[in-house]
Amino acid sequence: METGKRLHGKVAIVTGGASGIGAETARIFARHGATIVLCDRQDELGLSVADEIVAAGGVGEHRRLDVTMEDQWSALVANVEADHGRIDILCNIAGIARGVDPATGGLVDMSLPSLSLDAWNQVMAINSTGVFLGTKAVHPAMSRGGGGSIINMSSICGIVGSFGNAAYNASKGAVRLFSKAAALQYARDGIRVNSVHPGFVDTPLARTGHEGDAGRRRMEATPLGRFGQPSDVAYGCLYLASDEAAWVTGSELVIDGGMTAN
Ligand code: NAD
Repeated sequence: METGKRLHGKVAIVTGGASGIGAETARIFARHGATIVLCDRQDELGLSVADEIVAAGGVGEHRRLDVTMEDQWSALVANVEADHGRIDILCNIAGIARGVDPATGGLVDMSLPSLSLDAWNQVMAINSTGVFLGTKAVHPAMSRGGGGSIINMSSICGIVGSFGNAAYNASKGAVRLFSKAAALQYARDGIRVNSVHPGFVDTPLARTGHEGDAGRRRMEATPLGRFGQPSDVAYGCLYLASDEAAWVTGSELVIDGGMTAN
């Protein structure tokens, strides 16, 4: 599957890098020669992914980041540029599907009309505002370096609606059009911005919905007949991050086993 060092010499920040699609993107980017700064609010998992990358001969480190905190973004970007000299790639992959009940710590019901404002705000803060903050924060460093590639993780839920989670749809729809607006505004600086739209991928975020009746419905809706693996999405990110995509900006890459073709 590997075809060489498609990201040789590039420095990449990958949010959500401790788990699922973000972790696999970090691993694959490292195998293709990028220096990886993976960021997440889960330190233990983040450190173990970074250790794996280093053990495999790559260059990688974990840095704690809450993507909703602007001051943390400013510090991260300043430190990465100081330590590594440049920032070429930002993958905004961190995300959540459901809000957490502050009283119990459990995941809340996201269906309308019982959806709480607090749960809505949690999902929007991480999935949408976090993408805005990251896209804004890296602009000066990428411009100084002569350009870059920003990859924003949306979803098929940013393209079509769903029965269960309007807040998630809204947050991912925002990522889709924010990315196009950022692509227009950053083009003159040589910074490309694209969105990626996975279907049902086997990760901790989606796994519970892959079981029972809901899982059967999802499988039936996926023409290629299997749930995606994180690598299915990470290889799309690899293309968008690489110079092979030098003329690709403002685009949306759907990786969904054919689901939205129907
Ligand atoms: P995951 O739960 O395995 O990974 C998400 C990561 O984001 C976790 O490591 C989590 O700690 C991190 N994160 C959450 N909030 C954060 C915050 N405030 N600051 C920093 N890190 C934070 O899930 P995944 O499926 O790999 O999801 C990755 C992205 O892909 C998400 O944006 C998700 O919405 C999107 N996506 C997933 C699927 C799917 O089926 N798995 C489908 C479409 C889109």
